[in-house]
Amino acid sequence: MDIYGDTSGLSQSAIKALERVYRRRVPQDKIVSLELARNLAEASRLSGRQIGALVHRSGEVDVVIVGSPSGIMLPEIGRLRAAKGRFRALRLIHTHLFNEELNQDDLTDLTRLRLDMVAAILLNPEGEPRALTWAYNVPKVAEDQSAGRGYEIAGPEPWGRPQPHFGELIAALESEFGRLEKHRTVEAKDGRAMLVHVGEKKPGAMRIAKVRMNELRALAETAGVEVVDEVVQLRERVDPKYVLGKGKLEQVLIRAIDLDVETLIFDRNLTPTQASTIASRTDLGVLDRSQLILDIFAQRAESRDGKLQVELAQLKYSLPRLGQKDDSLSRLTGGIGGRGPGETKLEIGRRRAQERVTRLERQLKDQRRQRDQRRQRRQSEDVPVIAIVGYTNAGKSTLLNTLTGAGVLAEDKLFATLDTRSRRLSLPLGNTVILSDTVGFIRDMPRDLFAAFRATFEEAADANLIVELVDASDDEERNHKQETDRLLKELELEHVPRLRVYNKADRLEPLDVEGLTSEEDALVISALSRDGTRGFIAEIQRRFLPPRSA
Ligand code: GDP
Ligand code: MG
Repeated sequence: MDIYGDTSGLSQSAIKALERVYRRRVPQDKIVSLELARNLAEASRLSGRQIGALVHRSGEVDVVIVGSPSGIMLPEIGRLRAAKGRFRALRLIHTHLFNEELNQDDLTDLTRLRLDMVAAILLNPEGEPRALTWAYNVPKVAEDQSAGRGYEIAGPEPWGRPQPHFGELIAALESEFGRLEKHRTVEAKDGRAMLVHVGEKKPGAMRIAKVRMNELRALAETAGVEVVDEVVQLRERVDPKYVLGKGKLEQVLIRAIDLDVETLIFDRNLTPTQASTIASRTDLGVLDRSQLILDIFAQRAESRDGKLQVELAQLKYSLPRLGQKDDSLSRLTGGIGGRGPGETKLEIGRRRAQERVTRLERQLKDQRRQRDQRRQRRQSEDVPVIAIVGYTNAGKSTLLNTLTGAGVLAEDKLFATLDTRSRRLSLPLGNTVILSDTVGFIRDMPRDLFAAFRATFEEAADANLIVELVDASDDEERNHKQETDRLLKELELEHVPRLRVYNKADRLEPLDVEGLTSEEDALVISALSRDGTRGFIAEIQRRFLPPRSA
């Protein structure tokens, strides 16, 4: 039988005593049996070190561990949690040589590894059991009591006192966790997540980190995720294996368990290997930014076209992650709370996924043909088309609502609109134009997603005018403008006449509004308070006069 830990320098009799520990069985109703306690005490006396046993719920000893005189290191027992709200079915029973109570390491092992229990047998100077103390995980009573410790300590009780019924205690605790878990899924059904930004140390890195984190948080909230913590690490070099430093990842894991986090969301895109390495090391769901965006698209897509496109993008993104033999895979491919059209499809394996990709691409092609026909019909009607584009959250849907009462979904969430919506707008001189709301732009749009959603902009390609809506109140306004320029170029829309409109004027100082107006001769409006929308309509009217014959 293998002994875990440093056995060098131990006497033959100590080793014998250690090996004997494997033969002990603990009955269901005891934390530790008399025989096991005596055996551990004896091995401690002979070795002068802490000795521990990981006891399975069946009563068998799974691992015997040798520590130092003052501490003990547990072997890697795999971080897979048995199931939500349950413990690992292992408890640590170990000796303390100097009568010391449970220390921080003991409690960290307890909570971090979700052990059933950590118990210490305190030895007297003769090396005999003199007291027993134990700790177990308890649910934090309320969500907001984050100060709650999440564990309870009992004892030290003089050795020989009756112990609680172990089996019953654990069963009660587990059902309590289970109840709470169910309760909690109602409250936060979309999962609790921690955001992680890892960047390279260079001037301005912290500012960039903040901006990116704000954006990631907005994305996460749009996806319906409860963000409970954020971690930023700046390093000389991003770790090729773990992204974060190994030590930092360990800290993140402890914090995640503390806060009951299910998912880590990384601000950067992870390679399939990085994602699976982190997932199997932490037993947490791992998502990167692309998957988060895909998840949002998956939730928001409404039209048949949009849904097909999202599913295609999800499949394409997940394909390299399929077929890697790794049991943590399910945690890498699903979205938040395992949602989205791709979720079940991703279970189907590589070959079927490939087939599905092919079929989806064919369906999309058909749809595109239909869309072309629709578009041609509209063009023959000779109604000018105006496409509203811009960074996500700029207020495109709000503007469309305000102007046309279209009832397009507008919320303070990124990507509140996915599918192109078009509405007629009657102008003062009696002619009409078609106003189209488009999907929002975002920095670093995932490649596959971008390709899939290019189709959404085909309508814009035929537009007579592109209204570029800019959120003037956003600190990132300048970057958004640049990014919009770049994306329009990439969508081959740079030749379409463009009108830049600054939105959210109600949030600006009057002087700033003046500055914008004089500097660029730009329109400044508030889609919300309707300020300036008359001027906007007048400008449209000026550009699109009614046909002379009318
Ligand atoms: P889209 O992603 O570009 O379609 O943006 P939405 O139309 O969904 O608007 C995003 C958020 O900005 C919503 O909370 C709107 O209420 C808000 N918003 C839009 N226009 C204005 C505005 O003129 N002023 C202010 N203060 N908020 C606005
Ligand atoms: Mg919108």
